[in-house]
Amino acid sequence: MITLSSVENLQENIAEARAAKKKIVFVPTMGALHEGHLSLVKLATDIPNSFVILSIFVNPTQFGKNEDFDKYPRTLQQDVELLNSLTSAPAVLFLPQADEVYPGGIPEQLAPRAGAAGAVFEGVSRPGHFDGVLAVVSWFFRVIQPDTAVFGAKDAQQLFLIRRMIQREFDGAIEIIEGPTIREESGLAKSSRNRFLSDLAMVTAPLIFANLKLVEVEIQQGAKPSEALEQARNALDSLSLAKLDYLALVDKGSFKPVSDIFTGQALLIVALNLAGVRLIDNLEITIQEPA
Ligand code: AMP
Repeated sequence: MITLSSVENLQENIAEARAAKKKIVFVPTMGALHEGHLSLVKLATDIPNSFVILSIFVNPTQFGKNEDFDKYPRTLQQDVELLNSLTSAPAVLFLPQADEVYPGGIPEQLAPRAGAAGAVFEGVSRPGHFDGVLAVVSWFFRVIQPDTAVFGAKDAQQLFLIRRMIQREFDGAIEIIEGPTIREESGLAKSSRNRFLSDLAMVTAPLIFANLKLVEVEIQQGAKPSEALEQARNALDSLSLAKLDYLALVDKGSFKPVSDIFTGQALLIVALNLAGVRLIDNLEITIQEPA
């Protein structure tokens, strides 16, 4: 694995890989790598003849003014060691500099790319977050022009918006691989922010996923989604240290809330603040017509 910071060096390496008929596969991250990220690297390096680029960039424009940009974990040395210890490490670790990503300085205001679908759920608590995500992801896509990009199912709304951006702005030319959410044994989704959870919060955190599973079981046993959701909302909201942000069931294809008669692929999405740490999770469920 080589580490590169400049776009020019990166593009030289990409050109060589393309000349050697390699498939350019991109895995964007903000670092503080954990097994969730590594599972995406494995999906990428398992692609035959792939040239895998993993980026680490803590993107300032996706953090709100009162959010944890300064506190976000930065563990570069550990990340490099982790990547080098893999049987198949990425070919390139790309660490772009903020002044190449944002040549005019960090913009105060971004183009409103994410639209209405970016203003709901995560977008309510984090206004402008997805405009920042799409700004940086589109910058990477233009610089790298990957054949394939690998994202985690964990960030469901982000993935929905990126898929839509690829259709709208990149002619659908980038294939997306969606990696399943990697969890602790307790069911808690792995996250770079989990390190901020206190021992006490770690006891409560697995109940987030447990409640998603419960809603799934209830719906599959014939409960009305609205009722199953209401019950789980009450359960999550009454956990000690927790403040529920949202729990909703959305159509995977549109990210719009579904009615009680919906059938098809749905995503049960949740965000919760646990003793000051914001956690998100989701579960994809298939809702079938009642027998
Ligand atoms: P981040 O570093 O949090 O921006 O995440 C980088 C990529 O890793 C995104 O595509 C995330 O969806 C993905 N990711 C984060 N946590 C997990 C997880 N527990 N399992 C699988 N993918 C994940």
